[in-house]
Amino acid sequence: MKFSAELLEEIRERCDIVEIVSEYVHLKPAGRGFKGLCPFHNEKTPSFMVSPEKQLYHCFGCGEGGNIFNFIMKIEKIEFFEAVKMLATRSGVSLPVDEQKENRLNAQKERVYRLNDLAAKYYQQCLTRSKKGQKIIEYLQKRGINLRTIEKYKLGYAPGGENFLTIFLEKKGYRYAEMIKAGLTRRGKNGTYIDYFRNRIIFPIFNLRGEVAGFGGRVLDSSLPKYINSPETIIYKKGENLYNINFAKEEIRKKNQVIIVEGYTDALIAQQYDFKNTLASLGTALTTKQVELVKRFADRVIIAYDADLAGDMAALRSLDLFIQTGLEVRVAILPPEYDPADYLHNKGAVAFKKLVDNALSLIDYKLKLLFKKYEVDTIEGKIKIVNEILPTLGMIKNEIELREQVKKIADELNLSEEAIFIELRKYHQGIRNTGYLEEVRSESGNLIAEKIIIGAILENEKVTSELLEKIEEEDFSHPLHRQIIITIKNLFKGGKKIEAQKIINYLDNERATKLIAEILMDEEITFDRKVIMGCVETIKNYRLNQEIKELERKAKILDEKIKKAEKIDQNDLKELERISQQLRMRNIK
Ligand SMILES: [Zn+2]
Repeated sequence: MKFSAELLEEIRERCDIVEIVSEYVHLKPAGRGFKGLCPFHNEKTPSFMVSPEKQLYHCFGCGEGGNIFNFIMKIEKIEFFEAVKMLATRSGVSLPVDEQKENRLNAQKERVYRLNDLAAKYYQQCLTRSKKGQKIIEYLQKRGINLRTIEKYKLGYAPGGENFLTIFLEKKGYRYAEMIKAGLTRRGKNGTYIDYFRNRIIFPIFNLRGEVAGFGGRVLDSSLPKYINSPETIIYKKGENLYNINFAKEEIRKKNQVIIVEGYTDALIAQQYDFKNTLASLGTALTTKQVELVKRFADRVIIAYDADLAGDMAALRSLDLFIQTGLEVRVAILPPEYDPADYLHNKGAVAFKKLVDNALSLIDYKLKLLFKKYEVDTIEGKIKIVNEILPTLGMIKNEIELREQVKKIADELNLSEEAIFIELRKYHQGIRNTGYLEEVRSESGNLIAEKIIIGAILENEKVTSELLEKIEEEDFSHPLHRQIIITIKNLFKGGKKIEAQKIINYLDNERATKLIAEILMDEEITFDRKVIMGCVETIKNYRLNQEIKELERKAKILDEKIKKAEKIDQNDLKELERISQQLRMRNIK
């Protein structure tokens, strides 16, 4: 059962967090709030705080926190919907069973599914029954995708004209407004309607049940963007799907293992070679929703990205989410210049199986990258390596595993385990409480700066709109922070007032709830303008530096490839020129 954010807000407004918590914890006044012994961990001096003003709680000892809903969930050990029901009864809010509304929504969704289905069939026919389509089939086959796969995955071709699909759907009795809602048509200039996908190879994206939720379209030449996806619709949300989940779920469950690749082609070819437990992430940074989806089916995750992407620390950072959910993550190392599709196509299934079996644990893999990046023999290098590995270590919940990993890192770096544990404690504290301003100025301060900005948007109404204009989701390096910012931006665009409690209800994500409580309950942070603008500068600079580093790395790889090659590939040259130009632009900034 799903509750609307408005309903949750109504219930929450009628319940007082201090009154409810008092039934479980003996609270005493402290500062502007109340203090007590934390019910979630053993302690002798109180570090559990409740704020009547913010209607949030947070424990400075164990990090638990949130609003009344997750307090009741945790303390009563019940599910979210049960907690909502309990609090609704208590506060006299009746839970509406708005069947009419539900039915209307379902009917709308049904209509979009039907439109998508029609569109998929249309694209399929364009592929199989046109001359141009035949050429594309030949091209797909050359890339290793066989006819059975083309048919099974309903690959298609969106013709190059202005509005072929739109006209086709119109004849079937659909209105323009519906087509736009389904993300198949968009408004052109002079009020015309044009197809969203034109002159592209089409990959229908199926949901868990095998219905077409959206589409991905790939260009036929080398123009950019290489891929576009359907815009968000009532049935398609960016970052919630994993490609091939409908076909792969049984096998994933059976093997208790999932292989995650990046692109459509990788996933399609992997299943041809009998790696039927393969999903494509369709983007570099995985989202919490995607991680939760995986967790429903398996405990073990193998990441098989091409070397370029797997060397990208930003892309790897999102994998920390898996560790936090308690999943085992390993990274398969492909030779440079191969993606999984090429590798399977050229080297075969046995060789690929070997890569999968020899995959390194995420921590080992990151260490390997960091050892290449920094000089292990110098103190400076060691410090940098430890600093970069801390966020991953910090995600490990299992004490035994943590000890083992720390021991390994200590051995490899020739440091004492104790030294690493001290750094880890500092890292946790740095996130949790004091020393924010100093941290913001230091190199690893970007994460804290991100938190302060989120706090400021929620707490200081005077800067909310200014901040939302200044920052982009890409400025945030942490996937959870990014998710919070996306939600805030969407609500803001929809004209909603930005308040912490509202955002919590809309996000419906436990980690985000905890994080927001943690930021807002810390009385040492002041959200004044000067501090905030400093934080904005910090995260912008961090992003710029990361982008420069990444471009330099790519340029170096290409440069080496060109130098080694007997015959120069014009595409490589073009790419290098493009990267160099991007670098120049960034260095001017
Ligand atoms: Zn606690």
